[in-house]
Amino acid sequence: MKELLAEAAVRAAKYLDQIDDRPVAPRAESVARLEALGGPLPQIPSDPAQVLALLDDIGSPATVATTGGRYFGFVIGGTLPAALAANWLAGAWDQNAAMQVMSPVAAKLEEIVQDWMLDVLGLPPTSGVGFVTGTTMANFSGLAAARSALLQRSGWNVEEEGTFGAPPFRVIVGQEVHVSVLRALTILGLGRSRVLTVPADGQGRMRPDALPPLNSNTLLCLQAGNVNTGAFDPAKEICARAREAGAWVHVDGAFGAWAAVSPLYAPLSDGFEDADSWAIDCHKWLNVPYDSGMVVVREPEHLRRALSWGSAAYLTQGSGREPWQFTPDASRRARGIELWAALRSLGRDGLRELIERNCRQARTFAERLRSAGYTILNEVVLNQVLVSFGSPEETQRVIAGIQADGTCWCGGTVWQGHTAMRISVSSWATTNEDVERSAAAMIRIAKSIKKQTEFDS
Ligand SMILES: *Cc1c(COP(=O)(O)O)cnc(C)c1O
Repeated sequence: MKELLAEAAVRAAKYLDQIDDRPVAPRAESVARLEALGGPLPQIPSDPAQVLALLDDIGSPATVATTGGRYFGFVIGGTLPAALAANWLAGAWDQNAAMQVMSPVAAKLEEIVQDWMLDVLGLPPTSGVGFVTGTTMANFSGLAAARSALLQRSGWNVEEEGTFGAPPFRVIVGQEVHVSVLRALTILGLGRSRVLTVPADGQGRMRPDALPPLNSNTLLCLQAGNVNTGAFDPAKEICARAREAGAWVHVDGAFGAWAAVSPLYAPLSDGFEDADSWAIDCHKWLNVPYDSGMVVVREPEHLRRALSWGSAAYLTQGSGREPWQFTPDASRRARGIELWAALRSLGRDGLRELIERNCRQARTFAERLRSAGYTILNEVVLNQVLVSFGSPEETQRVIAGIQADGTCWCGGTVWQGHTAMRISVSSWATTNEDVERSAAAMIRIAKSIKKQTEFDS
């Protein structure tokens, strides 16, 4: 075991060492070689060292270098050194985080992380927190708590009676709602098309003037951090109205919630702390390994009730917080370990610095591209940049060119009718040099494609 783990460490360190010198997307030949991992399942056991070698030799070249400094697709963070190291130790521990009695250390770390998180994110300190796979499951869990609470107000016990014949309540989302919220509403039997959709402004923010009247029979879904523009719904005004009306406010704050850790960006998230439930990703901007997210609910009882098990005699209840009561899973990996290591190693200053640096780097991208004559389509308020390189076809060709070049990686989108490339700066590993090198590559490729287009016509 000892030699094997040492070998794994050597291979992993080599992978990370070389990540700067390889194309961000894997070469087609490397992806094609993955076939070598298949074939019929061997009849007889293999030496673990050989299994590891095969995995590394064939698998590593076919990875996407998302954990390096020049991956700007979707919203994807890397892995902080302390979080990765803790993840390895956690792998050796192999703890089941479902119950205190199964793993006192996992349960304790969750309690510690819960307190630290609520503190740094500026959320109510007595909230309930569940450690889930990501924001999709966090949205699901938070909205399940909302459904339970709203139906309880109408005298309906959804846990016992289900949704058959339940009294209806209104669900309101913004025009720019993330698909994961609609997906959660779908699974919860609330319907993705039945929602009322509030129009958004040019940055994708919910328009408060277009908000229908709210009441205590309303579930209102807000967004902190639009996946394209990084914009925040105006929570100050909307949450005040929701509070007065007694509506339940759920916030999708996958990456935007982290703005609260910096005095420079906290004004963006002003007012969101008045909501009732929040969904937050940790594998994005906190830069811990996949998979990791949090659901936060102001009144823990709603979350606990919504996710409760019926009873089973062998599942004992310890005193204090039982982790399983706050997540939809039973057995699961102990995500709190890496979260603890990430926060403990960054400290408040490191966390603030990470968020501020990525936001500054996003502005640098926007400046470089704008100076080169390209159009920035969004107000760069956070870590997201949308750029157009001309016509939709030109922009698409530039995106394809950038992906093939391999210096960095960005994806495309259509923002309010405009074809655009998305740049998301979310990694601790991104240096200013990575940004300059990537911006230079983008401009070089865009220029050569422009020349080619002119030549062709
Ligand atoms: C990424 C993201 C999600 C989904 O999160 P997962 O961790 O992929 O499940 C939801 N909402 C927003 C705004 C996001 O950026």
